[in-house]
Amino acid sequence: MSKMLSLMALVGLFAAIVHAQEPAAEDKTAKAEVKKSAPAAKDAAGKEAVEDPEKVDWSQVDWRKKLTRLQYHIMREAGTERPFRNEFWDFFKPGQYRCAGCGAPLFESDAKFDSECGWPSFDQTISDKAITEHVDLKMLQPRTEIRCRRCEAHLGHVFNDGPTDTGLRYCLNSAAMKFVSEKELAKSNKKDKKPKTDAKTVENAEEKPAAAVESEGEKP
Ligand SMILES: [Zn+2]
Repeated sequence: MSKMLSLMALVGLFAAIVHAQEPAAEDKTAKAEVKKSAPAAKDAAGKEAVEDPEKVDWSQVDWRKKLTRLQYHIMREAGTERPFRNEFWDFFKPGQYRCAGCGAPLFESDAKFDSECGWPSFDQTISDKAITEHVDLKMLQPRTEIRCRRCEAHLGHVFNDGPTDTGLRYCLNSAAMKFVSEKELAKSNKKDKKPKTDAKTVENAEEKPAAAVESEGEKP
């Protein structure tokens, strides 16, 4: 009998300990999930942050090996490619433009417009974190240079004479970007995010840019 009692007491004690630890464990998990869900939500909306999932130290990359001569000249020496003789000036397929150096998402095809200047032009970046702006005094008139925030590659310039609601014209070098088609994006989304992607979130995210384009189209 006393054996039985002490056994019950032991079980009771054990249950009490487990119970006491539970809320603390739950708290930690909840906090971790909140932290994790913030960037994931941005991913679903196509507004990927600049955080590098591979954690590469981009300051240590041998860019002469990684880039072509033209890319190196543009991206690491702030050069400019020739107008009308580059890959994307008159290219308008749906997809995403990424940094040719580090792969960071820079622009959505929805933001691309024909500025007739001979270089690919966009009216907004994919997120506030995609690029950094720097004063460029190489010409008589100061210009605003844009660089990839992740790997600091020179990409082009941004001007205040854009024809859409944003009033901005991001003028890019094609060679500084690589294009990922909508199909390829859908494939990689399925692969990467199948377990955690909420179908509704993706639908909503895809509706947004389309609506923005429509409203822009109605403007004279
Ligand atoms: Zn980059």
